[in-house]
Amino acid sequence: MPGISAVCPSVRRFVETFGRLVACGSLVGWLAASRLPAADASTEVAIVRGGRPAAVIVTADRPNAVCTYAATELAYHVRKASGAQLRIVTESTIPSDAGSRIYLGATRAAHATGLAFEHLAPETFILKSAPGALYIVGADTDGSAPADTAGSEDLYNAPGKSIGDPLNMNTSAGTLFGVYEWLERDLGVRWLWPGELGTLVPKRTDVTAHAVAATIAPRFFQRAVRPGLSFTFDHAALGFTPQAAAAYAHDQTVFLRRNRMGRGVAMTYHHAFVDWWEKYGPEHPDWFQLLPDGKRGPAKPGGRFSMSVSNPGLQQQVVALWKAQPAPRPHYINAVENDILGLCTCPDCLAWDGPEPADYSTFTPPTSKMFGSRFVTDRYAKFWLAIQQLAAKDDPEVNVVGYAYENYFQPPTSGVKLNPHIVVGFCPSSYWYPRPPDEHAWVKQQWTGWSETGARLFSRTNYFLDGYCMPFIFAHQFADDFQHEARHGMVATDFDSLTGQWSTQGPNLYLLMQLQTRPDADPDALLAEYYSAFGGAAAAVKAYFDYWENYTMTHRPLLVKSFADLGASRWRTFARAAQAVFPPSCFPPAEAILATARMAAAGDREAAERVAFLADGLAHAQLCARAAALLTLGDPQSTPARGKQALDELLAFRRAHEREWIGNFNHDAWVEDLSWKLSAETKQQPELYP
Ligand SMILES: [Zn+2]
Repeated sequence: MPGISAVCPSVRRFVETFGRLVACGSLVGWLAASRLPAADASTEVAIVRGGRPAAVIVTADRPNAVCTYAATELAYHVRKASGAQLRIVTESTIPSDAGSRIYLGATRAAHATGLAFEHLAPETFILKSAPGALYIVGADTDGSAPADTAGSEDLYNAPGKSIGDPLNMNTSAGTLFGVYEWLERDLGVRWLWPGELGTLVPKRTDVTAHAVAATIAPRFFQRAVRPGLSFTFDHAALGFTPQAAAAYAHDQTVFLRRNRMGRGVAMTYHHAFVDWWEKYGPEHPDWFQLLPDGKRGPAKPGGRFSMSVSNPGLQQQVVALWKAQPAPRPHYINAVENDILGLCTCPDCLAWDGPEPADYSTFTPPTSKMFGSRFVTDRYAKFWLAIQQLAAKDDPEVNVVGYAYENYFQPPTSGVKLNPHIVVGFCPSSYWYPRPPDEHAWVKQQWTGWSETGARLFSRTNYFLDGYCMPFIFAHQFADDFQHEARHGMVATDFDSLTGQWSTQGPNLYLLMQLQTRPDADPDALLAEYYSAFGGAAAAVKAYFDYWENYTMTHRPLLVKSFADLGASRWRTFARAAQAVFPPSCFPPAEAILATARMAAAGDREAAERVAFLADGLAHAQLCARAAALLTLGDPQSTPARGKQALDELLAFRRAHEREWIGNFNHDAWVEDLSWKLSAETKQQPELYP
């Protein structure tokens, strides 16, 4: 393996929060960039022989929380594979009959072996085999928060996870990630969905750690899928019971860490100026949008507003607020416009704008608020650049974060050049899956255009909020998007949000997880891993999801028309139109394929349970579509009485299946709450109703 500097193009090299190299633009997944001597086959390490332990797991005498957890995770998966329960011991208490050792974290033994783990970048780890020993040692946070996370809204964590907790997405868990990498490599473990049934661990009587010598860093410095654990709704009966919600949150959090979600760099960003009118409007109205009627600030009191980004006073204030923060100062300045179109009509902003692209309105729905708006990307690009250049006088390594969004989604046209210290979140307002081929190609071109400005990019899309609980499969189109982005400068991800429809949308979600650690893998090879979990039913399950992917990709006209007719909007009120996009006639062919899968899995308990998991998700989707037909707010004839029986059957099904994790029922409830004509009965707790 070449050294890390040899594989990173210099333009993509950058020094991150901790002053170290953590990411680069080369096309490998978890970047294996070892400076260690090559391993030879003689360093294979026996872990389990004939179903009996041949090794112990060794931690430091006082292990950090990450190592303690990593040890239990390692022992759990080895036992699930082989039946052998490895002992977990500390370095001073290794028994004389220990056999081989798996050293986890910063042990004296790892140090004595000469492994240079003290200066690893966040989330990075070393895998190294030696005679009789496997070393897994990584950069672990043990209690101190990265500076930039202080005070920021935490979009990535379940509540109650402090820094240093291995399940906190902001904790650098290098040793834990090393364990997961090893489990994937040498045991073929994969995590398909949260919980025991979704944990794929091939059975074996012997476990061997193969010869290895590698230092591995994440390809993307942030791998984020917002957990979707805080959907709120009035009709409590539609969601999980509180106990099931808590158990689901735990299992999903564990699952996301097993798939290495987390971040090694605390980049914070959100709509940055939402409280600025209140704070600064009276004194500095010229920092705010100038409306055509000559007014500054929000069009109506309390309304949203955009900024007059060409204003030097505004730029200076952004930098002054950053400079006023206590040391160590964040390395990322948030300059994301508020959640509204860029609307300023002052002469200076207009002068900064570039010409409107010829295809500006080609793929924008006429109903979109963007339709007919002015193209204003260049003013934002110049705004970020102005802030970055001002701040660089104090810190040449500082970065500025903005969004490509709304009427500044397309790349700049004035020729303005950005640089790697400008980090742009690619945030499409529309262009949902399934896309027609020309629209899909166009969205990819917009990404390429941004990457050609010299900025660093991260994917910040809302596409995974879509689809409700329906078998809505766009796996290959998503993978094509993701891999295009990975090939063109993507440094981080932020998917908003996980709706947890593990049973009906498994292939989408498996690729969403796997591509973040293996962005260059063939999507079909990844999906083959997923299907392999169904044993003898693998081919039938592939046919099942191929059916739904083909259905989804070929029914876009029906979807668009149904959403328009029923007044549904993508993601938020999908359940107004679910029955029209997924009518009763679409289900029987899928049920027939599942029936063959059920037969093919007979005799293999685990495979049969997984097929049953898919069947439960499909049954749930059908119950939801039936209730939607009777309760949709898109039909003036809908009444709670008309849908009562269908809804009660649906909710009884949810109670009976709520611990399987076929879906995050709180997400479903949130969508239904906004989509259906409901009575006060369903405001009761799920334990009491129906
Ligand atoms: Zn302006």
